[in-house]
Amino acid sequence: MAGPTAVGKGTVSADIRQRYPEVWLSVSVTTREPRPGEIDAVNYHFVGPDRFAEMVAGGELLEWAVVHGRHSYGTPRAQVEEQLLKDVPALLEIDLQGARQVKASMPDAQFIFLAPPSWDELVRRLTGRGTESAEEQQRRLATAKVELASQHEFDHVVINDDVHRATDEIISLMGLTPRPVTQ
Ligand code: 5GP
Repeated sequence: MAGPTAVGKGTVSADIRQRYPEVWLSVSVTTREPRPGEIDAVNYHFVGPDRFAEMVAGGELLEWAVVHGRHSYGTPRAQVEEQLLKDVPALLEIDLQGARQVKASMPDAQFIFLAPPSWDELVRRLTGRGTESAEEQQRRLATAKVELASQHEFDHVVINDDVHRATDEIISLMGLTPRPVTQ
C-alpha cells in the first residue's frame, strides 16, 4: 500500500493491526526521528544513516528510498520473506518509489494506492496533525502531487473517506473477509 502524506496510511495500518491481527504489517527502517508516541520496532526501526547505509550495502532491504528528499526508508527483506514462506498475509506501507521496486521483484503482489477524498482534505489532514514544520509540509505536499499523479500505476485505488471502510476494502483486496466493527 502506498499513498500521499497524511492520507491516513498510519491510521489504516493501526486499524488493520487492531481488527485484523492475522495480517502481518511490515516494520520499515528509517533514518528519521521518532514522532511523539511512536515506538521503536513497532512503528519503525529507527536507525542512524550509517546503519541504514550498511543495510543497503548488505542487500538487507527489499526496497528503499529517500522520501520527501530527506530521510531514508526501507523494508527489511528477511522479515517479508519469512512471512511469505509461512503464507501469512503481509502488508507493506511504502512510498511510490518503493512500490515500483517491489513491483519489479514481486509482480504478483497487489499494489494498492490509498487516496484522499480530495486535495483540500489532504492539505487539511496534513496541517491538522501539526507534526511537521511549514517547510516540511510544503515538501510533503510537493511529493503528494507527484504521487497522486501516479496512482494509475497501481492495481487498485482505495479512497480513505472512512478508516474502517478503507481498511475493509484493503482486507477484501488481500483476499480476506472483512468483519463488522466491534466496539
Ligand atoms: P512518515 O515519515 O510520515 O512516517 O513516512 C513518510 C513516507 O515514507 C510515507 O509516504 C511512507 O509510506 C514512506 N515509507 C514508510 N516506510 C517506507 C519503506 O519501508 N519504504 C519506502 N519506500 N517508503 C516508506
